Amino acid sequence: MYQLRDYQQEAVDATLNHFRSTDDSAVIVLPTGAGKSLVIAELCRLARQKVICLTHVKELVEQNHQKLTALGVDAGIYSAGLGRKDTQNKVSFASIQSIARGLEQHNEPLSLLIIDECHRIPKSEQGQYHAVIQHFKKLNPALKILGLTATPYRLDSGWIYQNHYWGFARETDNPFFKKCIYELPLRRLVKSGYLTEPKVFDAAVAHYDFSQLLSNEYNEYNEDQTPVEQQLNELVSKHPRVTKAICEQIEELAKNRLGVMIFASTVEHAKEIMGYLPAEHSQIVTGDTAITKRDQIIHDFKQQKIKYLVNVSVLTTGFDAPHVDVIALLRPTESVSLFQQMVGRGLRLHPNKQDCLILDYTNSGYDVFQPEIGSQKPNSKSQLVQVECPQCEHQNIFWGIKAADGTLVEHYGRRCQGLVETLDGEFQCDYRFVFKRCPYCNEENDIAARHCQHCHERLIDPDDILKKALNLKGHKVIRCQAISASINGNKLTVRYHDEDGEELKQTYNFDFTKGRDSFNQEFARRLGGGTTPVEFDKAEQVAPFIEHLPHPDFVIAEQTKRYWQVTQLLFDYQGPYRKANEVR
Ligand SMILES: [Zn+2]
Ligand SMILES: [Zn+2]
Repeated sequence: MYQLRDYQQEAVDATLNHFRSTDDSAVIVLPTGAGKSLVIAELCRLARQKVICLTHVKELVEQNHQKLTALGVDAGIYSAGLGRKDTQNKVSFASIQSIARGLEQHNEPLSLLIIDECHRIPKSEQGQYHAVIQHFKKLNPALKILGLTATPYRLDSGWIYQNHYWGFARETDNPFFKKCIYELPLRRLVKSGYLTEPKVFDAAVAHYDFSQLLSNEYNEYNEDQTPVEQQLNELVSKHPRVTKAICEQIEELAKNRLGVMIFASTVEHAKEIMGYLPAEHSQIVTGDTAITKRDQIIHDFKQQKIKYLVNVSVLTTGFDAPHVDVIALLRPTESVSLFQQMVGRGLRLHPNKQDCLILDYTNSGYDVFQPEIGSQKPNSKSQLVQVECPQCEHQNIFWGIKAADGTLVEHYGRRCQGLVETLDGEFQCDYRFVFKRCPYCNEENDIAARHCQHCHERLIDPDDILKKALNLKGHKVIRCQAISASINGNKLTVRYHDEDGEELKQTYNFDFTKGRDSFNQEFARRLGGGTTPVEFDKAEQVAPFIEHLPHPDFVIAEQTKRYWQVTQLLFDYQGPYRKANEVR
């Protein structure tokens, strides 16, 4: 008989509470090693009507099934790989492949469909998962769908859910799941002693420089793409001495350790690594290793007959050898989630280990406990910063840059991620830190928006505006690097300076609504990177803020009879044209 841990009970309670009030699909996020099969078992035990739990591999079908039967509950298995196709039980555990092929055998409505490793559901509404879900939705339109995963973020399509119960929304479109209803941070698991403490060792002796590769191929990087594989091979084969030195260090550091998992970049790289390790204590598993051979190797590794297990990302999920106490990363990592997943292989509890040594030879800079942000680190100086929304007070976590004393210099957040409760439900706060204004209805839009989200007019691309102004006679474009301002009565004059000392100027007359509004909308609204918007009634009120006024990236002017008249300011420009002081 199992006893649920506190957080497992919390996850169960969160599920019951959620589905008591809505049929919206929900996700639970539990790190590897949190024991999600026990959460699944408890939910199945409590269910009054029929439940199916789907997974993609037979090992997980078996593991989940075994946890429930240990609670004394009868349950079926529907998996060709396990040689069982039960359909009569109240609860059954099924493999997605088998059930997708045998849907006609499942004609009873379910109350709950649980999907383990639910980040595998593709975003496009195709494939086996969607076919199975549609089938059961037809049988019961009020079907409740619960997903469980350790990695709610996909490299190809982003976040798998929209809203989070901590009160924020994710930047994502049309995710499969409506809401994350429970999430357990890895740190809490380690702190409570349910996982082994990771000990990050600064492996300074040598490391690979994958930075070039990652910055170019970050989005495209993918295990099966030959060009990337080739690049990786070229990169690591150029540095045989680095690989040799790394292997020597691993062996030295692992002298008094039990089991070492090494993650290599490519198959060739893995073979090279094998050549530097003690042959009688090392084995390799790749995608091509025959299943029986692979099972034998894994068995020997778990029995500690061999010490070193080299693989090329085939052992990231569903592999469990608790004695592992060294994780060596020799392959670039696309996301912090994947990094954490690999590290997670070494965090299981084992009587003979105190901690797990993490050796990162890729210089990734990832933190074992860092939450996934869902966007690539914009530059090496960036760190996670907290930015309060001036509208709803939500504390956003964005990439940004802090000064040495901790004050915020700039941040790269675009829209507030806070959730706001309304009579119609929860919605993402509509405050934007950066924006472009629609020339037709004057409303704010995302800087990358192509159509106004309010009036649906097409928004002109800033690049087209620039291109046109650069080519038109009687037009001037300034690459603005700074502004200055002076006040004269109720008038405020702004001067835009470019890198070569040229300038344009523009006067806002605060006696008129138009002058006041346009100054407030362009400049006052953007104070502090949009974190501290202000509204001014009189020109003189601007005086203490002059130094802090944000400058546009480009200023466009048109020649009139006597002077250059500023016609457009482009703020927050992102595109091919170089901005002032930008090195390209
Ligand atoms: Zn907000
Ligand atoms: Zn509009």
